[in-house]
Amino acid sequence: MGLAVTHVILTIVVLDLLRHYIFGKHKFPRYLLVVGGIAGLFPDIDIPLTWVYSFLTGIKGSLHGTFTHSLTFVIIFLIIGAILHYNKNMKWARICYVIAFGWFSHLSLDCLYGGYKDFLWPFFVTNFCPQWGIGQHATSIDALILVAWLVHEEIHNNIRDYI
Ligand SMILES: [Zn+2]
Repeated sequence: MGLAVTHVILTIVVLDLLRHYIFGKHKFPRYLLVVGGIAGLFPDIDIPLTWVYSFLTGIKGSLHGTFTHSLTFVIIFLIIGAILHYNKNMKWARICYVIAFGWFSHLSLDCLYGGYKDFLWPFFVTNFCPQWGIGQHATSIDALILVAWLVHEEIHNNIRDYI
């Protein structure tokens, strides 16, 4: 799995680049970056859920990397977003699209880092993710993403957007 910070930073950086180069600031208000960053971490809600589950049942186990790490949620948010889009509720449609993106970004990163078996829950249990051992370099990857983003923002004189 990727580190918590990587999930948030990578999602925000990619969304910010899309905002900068494709959508523009008016169609893509800054709060969507926050929504995306939170969605990028949200599948790991199964960690506190494990604590609650263990506390209530007394069973020592882990829910981590199970059902919340399924593409099913990405598809559900895309469908809700499309319905809202169709009904011209663009604000909430964009929020749903960004949540779907953040969730997908989390699953992609976890997959790249070695993956889990429940990406296709509740339909299949299979781990098709590559086992490259990238997880060992997790903190270095965090640093590289952050530095690259800071350089990009400085080059485009956007640092003031965050102050
Ligand atoms: Zn995860």
